[in-house]
Amino acid sequence: MNHLDALRATVGAAQVLTGADAQTYAVDWRERYRGTPLAVVRPATTDEVAAVVRRCAQARIPVVPQGGNTGLCGGATPDDSGRAVILSLQRLNRIRGIDTDNDTLDVEAGCILQSVQQVARSAGRLFPLSLAAEGSCTIGGNLATNAGGTQVLRYGNMRELALGLEVVTAQGDVWRGLRGLRKDNTGYDLRGLFIGSEGTLGVITAATLKLYPLPVAQCTALLALDSIEHAVALLARVRAGLGAALTGFELMADYCLQQVVRCFPQQHLPFDGPSARLPWFALLELSDSESETHARTRFEAIVGRAIESGCVQDAVIAESIAQSRTLWHLRESIPLAEKESGKSIKHDISIPVSHMADFVRTTNAALDAAFPGIRHVIFGHLGDGNLHYNVARGAAWTEERLLARQEEIAALVHDRVHAAGGSISAEHGIGQLKRDVLPRYKDPVEIALMRRIKAALDPLGIMNPGKLLT
Ligand code: FAD
Ligand code: ZN
Repeated sequence: MNHLDALRATVGAAQVLTGADAQTYAVDWRERYRGTPLAVVRPATTDEVAAVVRRCAQARIPVVPQGGNTGLCGGATPDDSGRAVILSLQRLNRIRGIDTDNDTLDVEAGCILQSVQQVARSAGRLFPLSLAAEGSCTIGGNLATNAGGTQVLRYGNMRELALGLEVVTAQGDVWRGLRGLRKDNTGYDLRGLFIGSEGTLGVITAATLKLYPLPVAQCTALLALDSIEHAVALLARVRAGLGAALTGFELMADYCLQQVVRCFPQQHLPFDGPSARLPWFALLELSDSESETHARTRFEAIVGRAIESGCVQDAVIAESIAQSRTLWHLRESIPLAEKESGKSIKHDISIPVSHMADFVRTTNAALDAAFPGIRHVIFGHLGDGNLHYNVARGAAWTEERLLARQEEIAALVHDRVHAAGGSISAEHGIGQLKRDVLPRYKDPVEIALMRRIKAALDPLGIMNPGKLLT
């Protein structure tokens, strides 16, 4: 039996896609990478995933796991050899169970993040991972990339939100590690190892997720700021004043919001006059476990004091849930507006917050000097020390010219990130986008250990080859 027939016999002929049917799976969200898969295989159960991986291991067929295909580093796109199978987890989308006494939820890898949030909410609980792609990204992809998003400040990233995993190994065995334990010191942290491994060690098929109480009330404000230094000072102030009640602190450069209102004319900046022209905006969210009145009094007091201190120039506090959604919608639309405006050069950086203002100011100046006329598209999770420090073309640039300078631009940014003690990938991962530059910034011993782990868990090298490690 040839390979495709064997795969058809495993998952059903209708679930093995080839040719034109496979095309949408073979291109990444940003349309920066296009691969040629042997086929897209869509198993519906863990046992089917295991059978597919066993078959691929026997035949040395590379396996590229894929969830919602919203990743930003080309991690879910195969090469163009025509040899790899894209293993789509989309049909593995059952909720396996919820334990509200233990505050845990067992879900399969193909569940869409938004539907998991909804399941938790209908049980009176919060599953806090939140990101702009939540309508299409999957829990498996979130785990494989150790996704972050807008609530990390309070709840942590995906590694902190999963207690147990079920994984199909590179040999096609099933590790049944779904555990609802907050304490378990019985050896190596395999869960932590598979999370963030970008499909290079095995296939995540299910997870036990942590749930939290739903906040009783939430307040949102958009603040206008005149400098990055004031943004950092504001963060310190609201952190000290609100503690764990501070659940969101997003920073946006003026150009990002201008792009949003230009691309989506139904959206508006809630400031006019000089405030609308200030260089930075911060979106703040408070979550309260007492009452609406308690939340509002606390929030207004802290925003009022920030204005008095001079670190905030203007503020709009949402008066209703609808207004709060409108403010969040502005923030969440930035990556979409960025995509509409043509290809840009993305840097997903984290550095200690103490170095952030200096980094942004001096790196902006260095980029302007080396690449006159480029645009700074800077936004992200300042509360986590993580910014999407992107570079777009100005009027004098073409997309081709900008992309031709990608390596130089990225080297300038990443060298400065490294010098500031930062990371070149805070939350998106390495994929194929940053694979070749990773060794330049990571400790050689760390890279060597990673290679040994890869060789031990996937000796045939069939799991997502060409991603993360060279
Ligand atoms: P995919 O893109 O399908 O895959 C991503 C990687 O995970 C690939 O390497 C793939 O091989 C691997 N993989 C997928 N499923 C599995 C599995 N079951 N087992 C093993 N490996 C697997 N990310 C953030 O962290 N924070 C953000 O705020 C954020 N905002 C975004 C906004 C937009 C508009 C977009 C388009 C993306 C954003 N992202 C963000 C990136 C992306 O959404 C996340 O990386 C997400 O976690 C990817 O999930 P996915 O299901 O789409 O994974
Ligand atoms: Zn982000």
